[in-house]
Amino acid sequence: MTTTDRVLREVESARDELVDFAAELIRIPTVNPPGDLYRECAEAIGRRLGEFGYDVDFVTAEDSAEHSDEHPRVNVIGVRPGQRPRPLVHLNGHFDVVPVGAGWTVDPFGGEVRDGKLYGRGSADMKAGLAAAVYAAEAVRRAGVELNGTVEVSGTVDEESGGFAGVAHLAEIGRIAADRTDHVIIPEPLDVDRVCLGHRGVYWFQVTAHGRIGHGSMPFLGVNAIEQMGTLLEEIRTGLGAALEQRSTAMPVAPPAARRGSININSIIGGQAGEPTQTPCVADRCEAIFDRRFLIEEGFDQAKQEITDLLGDLSRRDEKRRYELSDLMVVHPTLTPEEDPLVHSLRGSIDAVLGRPAELVASPGTYDHKHVARIAGVESCVAYGPGRLEQAHQPDEWCAVDDMVDSAKVMALTLLDLLG
Ligand SMILES: [Zn+2]
Repeated sequence: MTTTDRVLREVESARDELVDFAAELIRIPTVNPPGDLYRECAEAIGRRLGEFGYDVDFVTAEDSAEHSDEHPRVNVIGVRPGQRPRPLVHLNGHFDVVPVGAGWTVDPFGGEVRDGKLYGRGSADMKAGLAAAVYAAEAVRRAGVELNGTVEVSGTVDEESGGFAGVAHLAEIGRIAADRTDHVIIPEPLDVDRVCLGHRGVYWFQVTAHGRIGHGSMPFLGVNAIEQMGTLLEEIRTGLGAALEQRSTAMPVAPPAARRGSININSIIGGQAGEPTQTPCVADRCEAIFDRRFLIEEGFDQAKQEITDLLGDLSRRDEKRRYELSDLMVVHPTLTPEEDPLVHSLRGSIDAVLGRPAELVASPGTYDHKHVARIAGVESCVAYGPGRLEQAHQPDEWCAVDDMVDSAKVMALTLLDLLG
């Protein structure tokens, strides 16, 4: 029997263990916000890694804004050295999950398996992927393979809220870094036959329109900030929004409709909103929050400049208009080249396990790849894991057990290939 066959057999015989481990993680409701039970979940992962021969560390992001005694930001990282420290493959999964929301017909934290699907909040996104990564590396060990290089597995917090106390923190303290880490696989739910090379950029910003308060019976004596905002929204709809429709990226973003830049209005608050008693006043303030997704070809500077120019232009056309722009969050686009050895290896493994070619995609949203690329400086990073993005954050979220097993096989063969 070849080494490959032995490893694949070990994944197959660990099927139930793999599912049980993912279910165990789902039963720990690590809801973010606020970041519940992170320590408990990190410990559950750490225990399993300890049993599987890893040196385990818990890394708490104590200095992060998100950390508190009540909701500590505890990450876990396991290292299993091979014959040499490098190459090093790091498998990273976030273990925070989004709130449950309405519409569930199963227990969101039951970890129930029904008709070949593991159900629960965080099943697809991404406790199944994290469990698959752990068992991929374990199958290699159980097959008796002595790896040349090192395997690391981390379980991290806060991906759903930006990952600053999670992967960003591990990168900042040098636990994920170009001088020690060669390749990073993030088993986000991109589907079992797709390799995700990166993502578009995000520019999240607030515009405040300032007016002048006046009596509602004589609005001509004030300046209505809501009307100023209305003008801006119309300009965005007909001007910038229409222009974005015409631009497209060469990145293989899936779904293809997301190969364009976009701008979404997240929220708008104006006038005396939320105040218990209304008075007849002209609204002197209106705030709106925008979510601009930009393409790698556009870049952040251009995306921001277009907003600055638009606001400047509107103010010049009518001196009563006053807008203030503030940045809330910037995520730069990232793309791992197709020729990267990790991409090459995963494609080969997908072909070997599933008997069909892998599809290369890019994500319409963002995930922890950004921190690996920009803070750690590790170029060789992809998202590959079981489950479908359409399941993420949905009621009755699930991940197919067969996909968990297949993705574990793919990751195991990739570890063999890169470190064997
Ligand atoms: Zn995720």
